[in-house]
Amino acid sequence: MILSRFEGDHFQHQGQRRKLINGLIKKGIRDERVLEAMSVVPRHLFMESGFIRFAYQDQAFPIAAGQTISQPYTVAFQTELLELSEHQKVLELGTGSGYQTAVLVEMGMRVFTVERIRLLSNSAETLLKKLDYQAYFMFGDGYKGLPTYGPFDRILITAGAPGIPEDLKNQLTIGGILVAPIGEKDHQTMIKCQRISEDEFVFSEHGGFVFVPLLKGKSDS
Ligand code: SAH
Repeated sequence: MILSRFEGDHFQHQGQRRKLINGLIKKGIRDERVLEAMSVVPRHLFMESGFIRFAYQDQAFPIAAGQTISQPYTVAFQTELLELSEHQKVLELGTGSGYQTAVLVEMGMRVFTVERIRLLSNSAETLLKKLDYQAYFMFGDGYKGLPTYGPFDRILITAGAPGIPEDLKNQLTIGGILVAPIGEKDHQTMIKCQRISEDEFVFSEHGGFVFVPLLKGKSDS
């Protein structure tokens, strides 16, 4: 057992993470780099105090402002679908707790993450700094992406959207992949969209999920 590099991450948490990772493998997650990153990132530090003891259950939990920290399986599944290679430029919409952001940074990605609720954006930025994870945090409406920082190798939407925003597709590099849960308010289908040329995109469907909604505009709070 090696000592964790994170303050407040103890042997018991590492053990619970190992169990969680074994569960993810049983549920079909195969990408070693995803599993490795998730075995390192201390999910309990991203939870609201009342839920810390459940941090290594494979479930979504409430965070501030009525939002959620995604289920670990969902984080693993979306990250695997991104087919990441080292040092890619990734745009994440829906920073939330910052957990998914940390997993991407742990995998060696250059991450730009957008959140429409200031409180969440600020607290995720503070936490990731403390954990020594560097990412670019932006408080704002992610619907239009980040045109001045694009194009991106990968785009990940972690909130349910009625459709794939056109502006986002156009911020993908050729060969770039976008992963997003698309559909109704209480049920979405995971979509992978790959840009194969300037104006051609290939889509595939990857099962049903439930996310909090992707909303238009910044929140005042
Ligand atoms: N990736 C997060 C899960 C976040 S839940 C995690 O690992 O914890 C989805 C988040 O998307 C919420 O915090 C919500 O406020 C945010 N969101 C919804 N619509 C948005 C938009 N248009 N732009 C940016 N963020 C948005």
